[in-house]
Amino acid sequence: MQSVKAAFNVDQFVSTVKSCFPPEIDSAPLHEPSFGGREWDYVKDCLDSGWVSSVGRYVELFEKRISEFVGMPYVTATVNGTAALHIALRLIGVKAEDEVLVPALSFVALSNAVTYVNAIPHFVESDKRTLGVDPAKLLDYLREIAVVKDYECYNGKTGRRIKALIALHTFGHPADLDPLLEICREFQIELIEDAAQALGSFYKQQHVGRWGKLAILSFNGNKIATTGGGGAILTSDENLAREAKHLTTTAKAPHTWNFYHDEIGFNYRMPNINAALGCAQLEQMPEFLRRKRTITERYKRAFVNLSGVHFFVEPVFARSNYWLNAVLLDPEMADQRNRLLEALHAVKILARPSWELMHRLPMYRGCPRMDLPMAENLQASIINLPSGIRLC
Ligand SMILES: *Cc1c(COP(=O)(O)O)cnc(C)c1O
Repeated sequence: MQSVKAAFNVDQFVSTVKSCFPPEIDSAPLHEPSFGGREWDYVKDCLDSGWVSSVGRYVELFEKRISEFVGMPYVTATVNGTAALHIALRLIGVKAEDEVLVPALSFVALSNAVTYVNAIPHFVESDKRTLGVDPAKLLDYLREIAVVKDYECYNGKTGRRIKALIALHTFGHPADLDPLLEICREFQIELIEDAAQALGSFYKQQHVGRWGKLAILSFNGNKIATTGGGGAILTSDENLAREAKHLTTTAKAPHTWNFYHDEIGFNYRMPNINAALGCAQLEQMPEFLRRKRTITERYKRAFVNLSGVHFFVEPVFARSNYWLNAVLLDPEMADQRNRLLEALHAVKILARPSWELMHRLPMYRGCPRMDLPMAENLQASIINLPSGIRLC
């Protein structure tokens, strides 16, 4: 039976969001960092010791703690998540004029990183269950356009090699990794996981980041845990890990005093002072995750009472970190999205739409893509709600 409740109006929507916040909250940014742990102690330790830059004990400690938390043996901390993506694409062997499959509904850093290695993003369709790449549609599409020859995948239409897929865990919700990995194996495509938003998210009881040959994290100020700016490259391949460290540290050959660089490297290593902040943040992850769940539960309960909109919940096979909470407007309400965003901003609730689809940005308009009706649908109907842990 269809619900007979009338769809919401703007005021009801705003008061529903507001009802989820403690009464003393008079403004709600989309996401803000929280420094309630040992951040001051660790950063002070860096200042007192003079080790603030590219050498110091916190970088290695931070890498070790991420490794333990995610369950991946090798972690290389970087200056940001975009740099981590850039290096991951290099390490996986993406070359100029290759194509890399990227969700159309994604943050611009993915496509940008693809262009840093002179490759071409190729946009793929979203899955309504996960907000990530749709495995069934990807499989159909590749069966139609892809040609596998000598263990490599080619786009039959452009003649270019399709080297990799970047699977994004959108807003922290795990993509459906098992079928995506299977497709990658069938078509000889490498899998990279963009887990920038997904620290603390699990797919079938295992932390995300373990399906791809490489995965990346971000510790930007708006992520669940922050180092100010920062990122990481994760892998279980020792050789790739060694190369990640080498490329991010100007490709300097290890030596006590000599400067010798054996290829063109990058200055992408995370500074010690950022890693110190990160160590303190990681200690609080269990609390961050708990409080995020509390906020999510409040939204979930509140939005049950509104028709015309539904709160996005984690897929059945996943336990999400709920980094950013989202509601999806029903098709008949999607034209209200901007009015709702304006009304929320008027009372200092800084909700946001999702990213503009990549194929609609001027620099990526001409890139190859599949039909994207679901991505277009989602883009028109998603509203991200304030999700910082201060809200509970
Ligand atoms: C934040 C983010 C990045 C980039 O990380 P930075 O640290 O900001 O460079 C990449 N991908 C996704 C999905 C992100 O949310």
